[in-house]
Amino acid sequence: MSKTAASVWQECLYFISDNIKPQAYKTWFEPILPIKLTGEALTVQVPSKFFYEWLEEHYIKLLRVALVKQLGEDAKLIYDVRMENTYSNNKPRTVKIPSSNRNPINPQGMAVMAELNKRELRNPFVIPGIQKVKIESQLNPNYNFNSFIEGDSNRLARSASMAVANKPGGTSFNPLLIYGGVGLGKTHLAHAIGVEIKDKYPDKTVLYISSEKFTQQYIDSVKGNTRNDFIHFYQMIDVLIIDDVQFLSGKTGTQDVFFHIFNHLHQNGKQVILTSDKAPVDMQDIEQRLLSRFKWGLSAELQAPHYETRIAILQNKLFRDGVEMPEEIVEYIAKNIKSNVRELEGVLISMIAQASFNRKEFTLALTKQIVDKFVKNTKREVSIDYIQKVVSSYFDLDVATLQSKTRKRHIVQARQLAMYFAKRMTKASLANIGAQIGKRDHATVLHACKTVDNLTETDKNFRKYVDDLRKKLTF
Ligand code: ADP
Ligand code: MG
Repeated sequence: MSKTAASVWQECLYFISDNIKPQAYKTWFEPILPIKLTGEALTVQVPSKFFYEWLEEHYIKLLRVALVKQLGEDAKLIYDVRMENTYSNNKPRTVKIPSSNRNPINPQGMAVMAELNKRELRNPFVIPGIQKVKIESQLNPNYNFNSFIEGDSNRLARSASMAVANKPGGTSFNPLLIYGGVGLGKTHLAHAIGVEIKDKYPDKTVLYISSEKFTQQYIDSVKGNTRNDFIHFYQMIDVLIIDDVQFLSGKTGTQDVFFHIFNHLHQNGKQVILTSDKAPVDMQDIEQRLLSRFKWGLSAELQAPHYETRIAILQNKLFRDGVEMPEEIVEYIAKNIKSNVRELEGVLISMIAQASFNRKEFTLALTKQIVDKFVKNTKREVSIDYIQKVVSSYFDLDVATLQSKTRKRHIVQARQLAMYFAKRMTKASLANIGAQIGKRDHATVLHACKTVDNLTETDKNFRKYVDDLRKKLTF
């Protein structure tokens, strides 16, 4: 029986699947199609240049052994990488596997890769419809620039994001760090960049991932002894979006691996986009070298939207959902929900649900009820002033003494407690807290928080202060 491309490849697959993990087999070998067999040369089709590079880097030895078994020492493997422009002939790019090669990446392969890169500029490779590389971008298409309403509170962040989307890796906004409080649109904006890039540059590998998931993957890779694969995978991404990096606080292993991935991507002109609920100066337990990288590019803040923007966000949502609502009701919602766009939308969704379940009209009474519920559920934020007053009176001091430069131990402790509670109970930044409590800098506040944490663990009397004060401040 004479050999065909399909039969040779099938035999290779039997061998390969016996020698690698099932997940890797599924990801990297199932999408490969045998195309042609000419003498000792087998042509296979791979879905993208990325895919081809990955095979060359990780599986060339295995492929070689498999092929030599089937076709002898002179076996050659030819990759056919699908090109975007389907009008012209898809000339296969050829990569030979020299029979004497013991090195996973052969020099010839590198030369071809360089050539591929040059071609790519004119004629980008693309992932064809049927065979998809198993790297989904994980983007939500609804989170795009069109649906992100512009206002004073987000203008800088929005324009920087658009600049990055137009020229990923090609602006000085690398990394772009979007930071701001809960529900202000960080995730939305981060997706919007990715969605726009996928639209403009379909050949780019974009990946959105939450810091939590990234951390979990990293931990799994350490357990499964695939840390290097993990790193290599991320180093191949063109546009990496990592959401909520404050989650990496205290996770030194993950920070370390991210540091290496970041450096590689940055050096190679790849774009990195990060979000965080804090400005870099306020991030705790993140390594200094990583923080300094975060500051290389641009940190853009998302602030709470002003009244007009809140109205515009509500109207946009109503319009998209095809719902009509009296103006006074929209205004009532915008006036009462101020600091969180997610809640703004939440009220609207509850109202629409209520009205349609009970076939009710949108009334101001119904609106008040629902808004009240939302406002009650969000914990009242105490002010830094109030905290200073409570702490001072607990220790029988006046606020001026609490704020003074004195180094008397009991006053220093009171001041540190005030800082600690300000950090715990308000959304103020470390710098902001320091400025309000006796004009100290953010490092002093950070130190205070750590000291209180330590003393709470080791000193019974001190723990009682903390408990007493917490009770006073929360009632
Ligand atoms: P974060 O990640 O900062 O906590 P999200 O990005 O999840 O916030 O945003 C919360 C919700 O508010 C999302 O549904 C998002 O679409 C919406 N949102 C936030 N900002 C805007 C905006 N400027 N225009 C329209 N929708 C917004
Ligand atoms: Mg988010």
